[in-house]
This record gives sequence, C-alpha cells and structure tokens, in this order.
Amino acid sequence: MNDRRVPCLITLSDVGDAPGIRSFNMIPKQPPRDGQSGFLYLPPYRVHGISVAGEYTTITIPEFGVTFDMGQCTRASLTSDLIALSHSHMDHVGSIPYWFSQRYFQKLEGGRIVCHPEIAGPLRRMLASWVDLERQKTPNEIVEIEPESEIELRQNIVLRAIETRHTCPSLGYAVVEHRHKLKLEYQDLPQSELRRIRSEGNDLTVKTEIPLIAYTGDTDRGDFLERDEFAKARVVIAECTFFDEDHRGRARVGRHLHLDDIAELLKKWDAEHVVLVHLSRRTLLSDARERLATLGSDADRVHLLMDHRTNRRRYETQLAEVAEVSVETSVGVGGDSIEKSNGSTNSEGLQEKG
Ligand SMILES: [Zn+2]
Ligand SMILES: [Zn+2]
Repeated sequence: MNDRRVPCLITLSDVGDAPGIRSFNMIPKQPPRDGQSGFLYLPPYRVHGISVAGEYTTITIPEFGVTFDMGQCTRASLTSDLIALSHSHMDHVGSIPYWFSQRYFQKLEGGRIVCHPEIAGPLRRMLASWVDLERQKTPNEIVEIEPESEIELRQNIVLRAIETRHTCPSLGYAVVEHRHKLKLEYQDLPQSELRRIRSEGNDLTVKTEIPLIAYTGDTDRGDFLERDEFAKARVVIAECTFFDEDHRGRARVGRHLHLDDIAELLKKWDAEHVVLVHLSRRTLLSDARERLATLGSDADRVHLLMDHRTNRRRYETQLAEVAEVSVETSVGVGGDSIEKSNGSTNSEGLQEKG
C-alpha cells in the first residue's frame, strides 16, 4: 500500500497544521473512483446499469423504456418512463425521490414507478415527506402491480409481474410480446377462403406470447424461476449475490441466488444471454470469471454486467464485426467506396446507441 504513495516534501507542520494532527511526508491515496455503469449490447437489446449487492441496483433496457429498480439514479434510467421495482430494500429504492426530482428538473414528463401492492403506501408516504423537506412538490406516481398482472410498454408488448421469494414482498418481471398466429388448420388455405371463414364470425388466429427479457430481482430459488417467462426469455437478468462455495448457506438465509443455483437454472433457461447482477462487493471479478468458466458450455452465454473490461472487449469485437460486414457488403456491391461504408454508417450507428 505504502509504495503507491507519492513522497512529498511539504509536511503539515510546515504549514501550521491543527493541533493533534501529526505531520507526514506522504500524500494520501486518491479515493477509489465512483461506480461506473455497466453496458452490454445483446442484439437487439441494450442492458445498461449498475449493480452491487447491498449498495445499488438500477438496470435500464432502453428499447422498452423500462428500468428495473432504482438504487442509483443513472443517466440511462432518466430516459425510462417506467421503473419496475423488485422490492423495497434500500439498494433497490434509495434513489426514487432523486429520480423523480431529476426528471422534473429536466422537464421529462410522465415518469411512473410500479411496485408490489404492499410497498406502495410506504413509498407514497416517503415521497410525501420530501414535500415538507424541500418545500415544493415534485410530481410523482406510484402504481401498484399485482403479481400476474401486466402493464403495456409498447403495442403488443407488456411488462408482467411475477411473485418471487425474498425477505420482503418481492416481484420479478418479464417483458412479453403478444402475437397472433394463424391457426394450424387454416395455414394452407388461400386468402379468399380465409376471408370467407372470417366473415362467418370465426377467429382465425391464436394468441401466442414470446418472453423477451426477464428480470429475477433479489430472490431465493423457486419453481417460479422455471416458468416460461424465464425459461424461454431471450435474455435473463438474474441476481447472483454469492459465488463462493462457502456462501451457499448465506444465500439461503438472505434469500438470494448463489452461482450453484444459476448453474441449475441454466439447464432450464433457453436464453441466448444470461446477465448476472447484484454480485457482492467481496466477489473478486477474477474469481467470478474463474468460477463462470466451470459452467462449461453454458459459460459463453453468461455475462457479468459489472465486468467492464470483458464487456468493453466484447463491444469492440461487435464494432469490428459490423465494420467488417459493411466493408464486405460494399465490396460485394462493387460500386461504392470502402471508406464510406466502413467509416461511418454502421459502426457509428451502433456506437450512438451506447
Ligand atoms: Zn439487493
Ligand atoms: Zn434485497
């Protein structure tokens, strides 16, 4: 530790330090940098957020204008109209008043928070007491969402709440797309025949649903994590507080997930990508990466949101691949210059999304 200190000739006693303070000839270390947001581009979705167990969790999916939890008001979260709270522990709700305040300050209208019905009252009371503290009223809206109910995010795309199991009332969420598919028995019929059948009052389609993104929130393991919303989602964002083999008991007591639970769930989850969040501060990234490698073939689809170095490298590869495709396309087309398509369109377009 000492070798990182920089020798300094000025001592506090030379400049008349306060009584009781010993002079020293080293300057103190700089404080650690504050948390940086994690970012993953999992086509076609971006996962943008910050998450450390007990400190903060805020995860934004810009494509749906939704953010899961509000432990820290990130820049990305301000662009979401909807915050879906998993539960009311401080690391998931601590920045709610600030989020409403910043949105108001930036003239962004219509922000809402959805939460488990049991915590809506206390949240409203907390926000009401900020009116007394600030001597001004910041608009806010807290909406209860019953487990198994839905809120519309986009046309045919909803956010569904799923009851989970933590040390207080808790919800997980799934972004689900509703689609109408032609019934099997009608699939080979010509249009004119379909029109005739419909005109007789028959319904030609069946409703299907496609889970796009699922978020576990803080939770213990349970059957609910094997439902289709999790099993068939393209991207699952899962808490994984504990990695250490000795911490299995702690995971059960705190009603959290351990990497061993994730290893089991990976057998049930079809997801192309599983993003682990809510790692404890004590989990070293190097150890976490080592333990992930033990997951075998599943390791490739598992990401750590806060592993900035690995994620940056992955993003640079994505950029390079797009640039390469764009060069090939332009050479294939034959006419256009390589510089034009390589340099600007695609690679910058992707960067802008970040
Ligand atoms: Zn937490
Ligand atoms: Zn919690």
